[in-house]
Amino acid sequence: RARVLIVGSGQGGFQVAASLRDEGFDGPIAIIGEEPGLPYQRPPLSKAYLTGKAHEEQVRLRPASFYESRNIELLVPERALSIARDQQLVKLESGHRLEYKHLVLATGARPRRIRVVGVELDGVFTLRCLAEAEAIRTGLESATNIVIIGAGFIGLEIAAVARAMGLTTHIIDFAERPLKRSVSAKTGNFLTEAHTEQGVQFHFMTAISEITGADGRVTGVATTDGRHFPADLVVIGIGVEPNVELARDAGLKIDNGIVVDRQLLTADPSISAIGDSANYPTDFFPHPVRIESVQNAVDQARCVAARLAGKPAPYRKVPWFWSDQGQYKLQIAGVAQEGDDAVVRGDMASGKFSVFRFRDGRLSCVESVNQAADHLAARKLIEKSTQLSSEQAGDSTISLSQLAA
Ligand code: FAD
Repeated sequence: RARVLIVGSGQGGFQVAASLRDEGFDGPIAIIGEEPGLPYQRPPLSKAYLTGKAHEEQVRLRPASFYESRNIELLVPERALSIARDQQLVKLESGHRLEYKHLVLATGARPRRIRVVGVELDGVFTLRCLAEAEAIRTGLESATNIVIIGAGFIGLEIAAVARAMGLTTHIIDFAERPLKRSVSAKTGNFLTEAHTEQGVQFHFMTAISEITGADGRVTGVATTDGRHFPADLVVIGIGVEPNVELARDAGLKIDNGIVVDRQLLTADPSISAIGDSANYPTDFFPHPVRIESVQNAVDQARCVAARLAGKPAPYRKVPWFWSDQGQYKLQIAGVAQEGDDAVVRGDMASGKFSVFRFRDGRLSCVESVNQAADHLAARKLIEKSTQLSSEQAGDSTISLSQLAA
């Protein structure tokens, strides 16, 4: 009964177990994960892994000996089917039942599907797990034409890799610019230009009508305006949806993720939820958020582990994120909303700048391109709610790190 049971062997699930041991927790810990193999990091899957520069050993979070030496039971591949809250146990696909004293749901998210003819063809992929990255990498080696559906982070990162490998690269999106939900128009338009210079061909405000194929293999993507883009590889990156079914079936509240409080607890005091699957209240946004980033999964895992080890504290970390796109490193601190003001610091033409976002006169978010120092200062400014005017933000002669100190 003293067991901490973690569902999900991804970034967050792994971190809960590791941090529990770091905090001195000496009770039993088990991680249940439906993916085979050791927990690994996802960010390289749309970057170095696709170029062949990183392999499975490099993306692994820890070697097998880590789990043995810390007495962390790793049950993979194994799927959690249901939670019996009244008995505090989880039923597994293998038929086993595991009791828990505390249950952490770190179930992550899965790629959103599109409903068009042809999605099932060979050569059409989404990208969430190692197996898919492996298949895309193999596909990239022999492909000439790639069509990417969705100009989100994953789509842009894959496009940068594909162009570096010499593929004809098209990105189709129904929005008018990339990363519409995540960054300002200024940053989005900069990235459009940057990728276009590298040869990526964007088709915005364009909808897919069909993925075409022959003999079960993809041949291209047709759009509703009557065009057809030949492709031997298609990647769909149109966002994710949180894995909430386990929690929903157990009667826990769902609202764009598993609803948790400031301690990352669900309404059941024996069940926490973290990472891509959790929706939580934060000081940094007007309403609860669900954040998809390594930082969020790791810091929330640490927060839950500390609570379970007897050091409870509310979760209060500034969200931050990065994305590598060819020669550009985009870093984002805070959470913006469409309509937040956007003030540029630095010279966009030089490829090194930050966009400061303001909501009701307060700094909400900073998007930095090849400006790591701005990003680090921004995290502090947002954390401390430092008063910053848009004039100060846009004036490169004013030291941000001093303001943040
Ligand atoms: P995950 O890491 O997704 O882990 C959840 C795990 O739970 C999965 O293995 C899933 O199969 C398993 N699971 C779900 N339900 C069950 C069940 N019932 N039984 C058993 N197992 C179950 N973030 C950044 O900050 N920077 C980046 O550059 C970046 N790049 C990315 C690139 C790619 C290609 C992807 C896919 C993500 C990227 N991210 C990036 C996002 C980041 O990887 C995620 O935010 C992070 O992995 C979330 O961790 P998590 O533990 O919540 O979920």
